[in-house]
Amino acid sequence: MRRKLIAGNWKMNGSLAANAVLLEGIKAGLGHPPNCAVAVCVPAPYFAQCRDALANTAVTWGGQDLSMHVSGAFTGEVSGAMLADFGCAYVIVGHSERRTYHSESDDLVAQKTIAAIRAGLIPVVCVGETLAEREAGKTAEVVCKQLEVVLAALNVEQIGKIVVAYEPVWAIGTGKTATPEMAQEVHALLRKCLIGRNAQAAEVVQILYGGSMKPDNAKELLAMPDIDGGLIGGASLSAADFLAIVGAA
Ligand code: PEP
Repeated sequence: MRRKLIAGNWKMNGSLAANAVLLEGIKAGLGHPPNCAVAVCVPAPYFAQCRDALANTAVTWGGQDLSMHVSGAFTGEVSGAMLADFGCAYVIVGHSERRTYHSESDDLVAQKTIAAIRAGLIPVVCVGETLAEREAGKTAEVVCKQLEVVLAALNVEQIGKIVVAYEPVWAIGTGKTATPEMAQEVHALLRKCLIGRNAQAAEVVQILYGGSMKPDNAKELLAMPDIDGGLIGGASLSAADFLAIVGAA
């Protein structure tokens, strides 16, 4: 049985003051111990704040991106080792906003996944189709290719060290959610891709759903057999909403 993971993606939101309130709210409302694994993926300047606020709690923290490089002349980039230095457990790679606004290719996402694993981080590898791709009947082809390029770059052991997030691009931040059945169909497909590479790892790799997951739709989505948690954008900025999703897991 895979333990569920609820991970917040704060995106480029927050301030020291606002984060302090949000983190205190999450800590105060979380069960002891929580019913699932809980993480917040925050902008890099706030890693130290999370380390200080979340030390010795059940909430882990992570980044939203990392460099494929280890160190050197890469102005503006942040390495996996730097995230690990601040106690990050997770890092999101290949989020659709990075694929779209920063032209991140499947190959770059694969390199970042390897960099994360080498730094001791758990990469949350995002895949998902656009509305045009779904309407053209290309969902399976698109998401399988995105995942396969990453899996092909990993060795058998590394495959068991990733988390996958299915995030249909048309559902991110739009209020439109995939139905539980639609999401389950894609999750089962992604599980099949994992089984093809490493059947044992496929049993343990968590596949999260992301895309307008909210307190009112979380329970149904999280009840599906291959939905092992959620990557939560907008709703992770409210302690009450985030905790309600955690409670639904
Ligand atoms: C996300 O950006 O990862 C996400 C799922 O956003 P939202 O929950 O706001 O759709």
